Amino acid sequence: MKFPAFCLFLFVCMLLLPTYALGAESPAAIKLFMNEKRLTSTEVEPRIVSGNTIVPVRIIVQEIGAKVTWDQAARKVTIVKDDVNIQLVIDSKTAVINGKKETMEVAPIIENGNTMLPLSFIGSRMGIEFKWDGLTSSVHMFKKDDTDSKPVTAPVDTGDGNQPGTPKPTAPPTVAPTKPTTPPTVPPTAPPTGDENGIKPPDPNVHLLNLIQLTEKDLIVNAKDGALTPTVLKLSNPNRIVFDFPNTKLDESLQKLLVNNAGELPSKHPLVQKVRFSNFADNPATVRIILDLKGAADYKAQTSKLPNQWTATIAEHQLTVVIDAGHGDQDPGALSITGKHEKEFTLATAKKVEKLLAQDKRVVVMMTRSDDTFIPLDNRVSFANDNMVDLFLSIHGNSAKSTVTGTETYYNRPESIDFANVVHQKVVAATGFPDRKVRQADFRVITKTTMPAVLVEVGYLSNKSDESAMYKEAFQDKVAASLVAAIKEYLNLK
Ligand SMILES: [Zn+2]
Repeated sequence: MKFPAFCLFLFVCMLLLPTYALGAESPAAIKLFMNEKRLTSTEVEPRIVSGNTIVPVRIIVQEIGAKVTWDQAARKVTIVKDDVNIQLVIDSKTAVINGKKETMEVAPIIENGNTMLPLSFIGSRMGIEFKWDGLTSSVHMFKKDDTDSKPVTAPVDTGDGNQPGTPKPTAPPTVAPTKPTTPPTVPPTAPPTGDENGIKPPDPNVHLLNLIQLTEKDLIVNAKDGALTPTVLKLSNPNRIVFDFPNTKLDESLQKLLVNNAGELPSKHPLVQKVRFSNFADNPATVRIILDLKGAADYKAQTSKLPNQWTATIAEHQLTVVIDAGHGDQDPGALSITGKHEKEFTLATAKKVEKLLAQDKRVVVMMTRSDDTFIPLDNRVSFANDNMVDLFLSIHGNSAKSTVTGTETYYNRPESIDFANVVHQKVVAATGFPDRKVRQADFRVITKTTMPAVLVEVGYLSNKSDESAMYKEAFQDKVAASLVAAIKEYLNLK
């Protein structure tokens, strides 16, 4: 197996992905976003004091664009933007705005040499819109008249019209489109249509969710119209499943359940502690539903009779193993010294592993192929990743000059080392071939999979004695038994 160098790049990307995903879920820190761009703190972290986010003065200067001056003697901070003048005194809750006194809920403080200012008190007077996302502890700020963040789409409104007199906050300006060739759906200068009463037309691409329900078995999500397909993320410590429904918003009835943009539903499901939901993002509008689990559980999407309904069964996590018979059909793999194909050895051995392992009812065995079919490597990877399996084992036969003999076991990602060691120890004992060690390589199926994944090169098909053993039924049985023993040992199945 030869792989181009970009595999390494892909590998690095894969390593980065889960880190970001987890980072975005960390409950401890307050995250700041300006026009949906994450702001990072180099100095003191923003934090919450009496329900107010306080931030280093730099955020006010750089992100809100205010001018800040400091009077050391009076410990006074003056913040100016356009025609707004705000004066604050450190450790005092009294603010002076354009000459008028106002009381703040939280006083500015000095922390580790940083002046920390109440973010929304200042920002809201300087034309910044705020949105608090309680699920992720994020402050989303939106600046309207920024030259580099002009809206590229028309303002989105739910159009429910229940507050025609109240000007609703306009949709946040979107950041520059990632694909500059994509024309905006509505030009920013498009004349407003049908909003003489202050009611903007609903965005036909945004579907309103009117039901989020967890029964003793299923999670049911219903939209007024449109099909629902969430992206799903499983997280541990604590165990939870995160469902993001793109192009959706909560309808009025669900909106009413929100406190600080986070809603909660009790659970009757034996595996779920509670259900949380929120209007998670604006661009695209995304409803996030989180199931806080009591232990390890999986979801399985059901085919719903209603196109606008999405249902998933939440069930106990079952150990699942993918057995991958290398090569297939037009990809025969290595040619053995007597002219046999690697794909036949791998399939025969993989099927023996399947049969043996499936005898243990605690395990679900999934085969990438069960016959002489060609399956691209990326499909083998996505098959395992999409099914969120626990283990991945790929079976191969090796080839080199005819004197080379022995068993090799490959892993790529560090989390696969333990599994590789168990597999190798068992399979070397079973083959009796020379021990050519556990090795690291960037074979696609063990690199791009997201669970512990190992590729075993049982022996050398280019070597006369290895090869003659490898096509014998009894030898394959022995190898299969050793692989099953390794899987069970690794999964702690006594
Ligand atoms: Zn191979």
